[in-house]
Amino acid sequence: NTNEMQVIFDSRSSNESFARVTVAAFMTSLNPTVEEVSDVKTAVSEAVTNAIIHGYENEVHSITIRCRTEGKTLYLEVEDQGKGIEDVQQAMEPLFTTKPDLDRSGMGFSFMEAFMDSLEVISTPGEGTLVKMEK
Ligand code: ATP
Ligand code: MG
Repeated sequence: NTNEMQVIFDSRSSNESFARVTVAAFMTSLNPTVEEVSDVKTAVSEAVTNAIIHGYENEVHSITIRCRTEGKTLYLEVEDQGKGIEDVQQAMEPLFTTKPDLDRSGMGFSFMEAFMDSLEVISTPGEGTLVKMEK
């Protein structure tokens, strides 16, 4: 018994809450706890923020979110066609950031890892980034 949705929206920070709330609404069929919803919203926020500020460097392009529920599991993907990540392993280290000047703490991927049950980052420089998570 699976259910799927995808949504494509502009990479504007004003769309971050839209993205969070959309995924939260989609996952209600799983009867999640308040904490589970909150964890997923945090992860969506971090991934979408990364696409906006790092992937597209604040230029407006498309971000795609794909969601699938299967059994009791939410599969979530956040994708951009932005500049990509040179060294994914390094980028995922706690406190690593390429924008320390902009008040970034380098904790986005660490939060995604902590709040979700799995995290996979697939990225090609010049092509974009796909963040896959499960909850
Ligand atoms: P914070 O999330 O704490 O504000 P941050 O965004 O720098 O800081 P992470 O979210 O952990 O920290 O990301 C680490 C680094 O990975 C970023 O500084 C950036 O270089 C790179 N990165 C993350 N997401 C993307 C993306 N979608 N496209 C390109 N680079 C990315
Ligand atoms: Mg971040």
